[in-house]
Amino acid sequence: QNLVTILGIPFINTTKHQFEKIIHERISNHKNTFVVTANPEIVMYANDHQDYAALIKSADYIIADGIGIVIGAKILKHPIEERITGYDLFTHLLNWGNHHHKSAYFVGAKPEVIKKLQKTVAEKYPQLTIAGTHDGYFQDDQEIVADIQVQQPDMVFVATGYPKQEQFIQKNRHTAKGLWMGIGGSFDVLTG
Ligand code: UDP
Repeated sequence: QNLVTILGIPFINTTKHQFEKIIHERISNHKNTFVVTANPEIVMYANDHQDYAALIKSADYIIADGIGIVIGAKILKHPIEERITGYDLFTHLLNWGNHHHKSAYFVGAKPEVIKKLQKTVAEKYPQLTIAGTHDGYFQDDQEIVADIQVQQPDMVFVATGYPKQEQFIQKNRHTAKGLWMGIGGSFDVLTG
């Protein structure tokens, strides 16, 4: 991996297209994969919270979501090829999953948003299997995780905001083989 480290956080340095190809291949080969989409807020939070920094460094890939990261890298004279936002990667993977008959599980956002998301995804990406959905306001993750384990989705999208989404993924990522990715407010954006 070609990495660029900013405030101790190692970012993958590829173009968006190259990164998409890496992820397609890993999903197709059922490789367990944790992607962190890090914006400047996340980097600053990690800088103040060592446990969170260690957690995100345990991911397979940290991508530069946020122009601030790309500009910072340039100033530090270790430029990053391209910004890759969580939202862009999310919608790209829905589209790719639709064309390749993959399945996805969605955890996060308010009950009415996740309900709307289910409808939007079914309409826009009819060949993508919705393995399951759950809103992001739960006390206990056991039931959700048990369902993910049964469903074995190719992709698990967790949109409960940082640091919760990354904590959920690190704890549970080994229950399904595919991609696990935290994507903040993306369900609200897609349905909004
Ligand atoms: N959210 C959630 N559970 C919570 C708190 C927040 O599912 O306990 C959702 C919220 O509804 C929104 C997203 O997480 O859809 C947070 O979006 P934001 O843009 O604030 O993400 P961040 O920048 O914090 O990662």
